[in-house]
Amino acid sequence: MREYDIVVVGAGPAGSMAAMEAAKQGASVLIIEKRQEAGSPVRCAEGVGKEGLLKTGIKIDNRWIANEVKGAKLIAPNRITVELSSEHAGNEVGFVLERKIFDRYLLCEAARCGADVMMKSSALGVIKDENGIKGIEVESSDGVHRIESKVVIACDGRESKVARSAGIDTKLKLKDTESCAEYLMVNVDYDKDFTHFYVGQCYAPGGYVWIFPKGDGIANVGIGVLGSKIGKRTGYPKELLDRFIKNNREFEAAKIVEHMSGTVPVALPLEKTYIDGLLIAGDAAHLTDPITGGGIINAMVSGKLAGSVAAKHVYEHTELSEYEKLWKKELESALIRDYIMKERFVNMSDNTLNLIADSLKDYRFSDLGMGGIIDAIKEKHPELMSELEGLI
Ligand SMILES: Cc1cc2nc3c(=O)[nH]c(=O)nc-3n(C[C@H](O)[C@H](O)[C@H](O)COP(=O)(O)OP(=O)(O)OC[C@H]3O[C@@H](n4cnc5c(N)ncnc54)[C@H](O)[C@@H]3O)c2cc1C
Repeated sequence: MREYDIVVVGAGPAGSMAAMEAAKQGASVLIIEKRQEAGSPVRCAEGVGKEGLLKTGIKIDNRWIANEVKGAKLIAPNRITVELSSEHAGNEVGFVLERKIFDRYLLCEAARCGADVMMKSSALGVIKDENGIKGIEVESSDGVHRIESKVVIACDGRESKVARSAGIDTKLKLKDTESCAEYLMVNVDYDKDFTHFYVGQCYAPGGYVWIFPKGDGIANVGIGVLGSKIGKRTGYPKELLDRFIKNNREFEAAKIVEHMSGTVPVALPLEKTYIDGLLIAGDAAHLTDPITGGGIINAMVSGKLAGSVAAKHVYEHTELSEYEKLWKKELESALIRDYIMKERFVNMSDNTLNLIADSLKDYRFSDLGMGGIIDAIKEKHPELMSELEGLI
């Protein structure tokens, strides 16, 4: 039996930020990670917003930036393109990262601040007694270990096993997941200054296809399809992605050099993200943006808050409930707004998307604002107003 003030499970962006922050505040911290390398294999399109990244307090380092983009192009089924500046395009647009390097960098920073790291070790579940959570049980190559701690921070990703072992329901409904397939491709003929989102049921039922440019003709090319829309009739993510690539001239000379698949939560946040002795952060708490599926920044923000609240709890006996108040203040309203939008977007017909794109094609979002968008739609396609009423 070993002892730490705080044990963090998972060395993704949430876990490394939590460990870094808690260690900075003087707590003894252990990170447990089941993979042999942080960030690898990559299961991500690697896009992040600049402003969001700056907000996390991490110093931007060119070693983990593959490309910087000016904005996003949203391409409707009829190929009409709407351009958004990076400030208006959400949490995924600004930089395209090298996550293998980025995640390792964050873990190194956590270790540099004093956190211990246990790689190739899988958390089996929390240790509980009648007074609450007392630590975590971990399986490594040399057997099963019991590690005592005052706080466990679950940063173990979607459907968190750690939170589940503490009695929290982390299961996701199919309609609240995007099932993804992605290739890393070379020789893609694209505009490297923009991330591209192809929206419409014809490309990706209840989701979108993305091209995230990494420079030098390299790109992450992927698809997310709403879990509840996958099937023989609509198609499977990899099949739909292959069809998209076959039908688009940008890929005529392109070659696939890496494959990956993964699932993103597009749900409301967990109802409870703390209990006595446990905090839950990042994807484990369902804090990805339900519209874009982007979760890196929210994972970092919530991880940092969890690390800070846990350290204060250890030293000043403050309440762990403070964590939930803090992340809600930062993130909750945008997550709820985007969940409501997602519920509408996933069922929007290609015709509606075409008409919206037609209304907005001659504007830049930075010049418009929400009022301007509504006016533009009202003027060009007033017939859409009743359909969009609730959403607006
Ligand atoms: C296809 C795809 C594309 C995406 N594209 C983007 C994008 O472009 N931009 C964006 O912002 N977000 C994107 N995301 C989402 C983003 O990857 C996540 O939101 C982000 O990684 C969440 O960070 P996290 O630290 O919460 O979890 P994770 O990064 O998932 O880290 C969890 C860690 O916990 C470890 N772990 C799990 N269980 C255990 C256990 N029992 N014991 C020990 N360790 C464990 C895992 O190995 C992992 O290292 C994408 C996701 C997918 C699937």
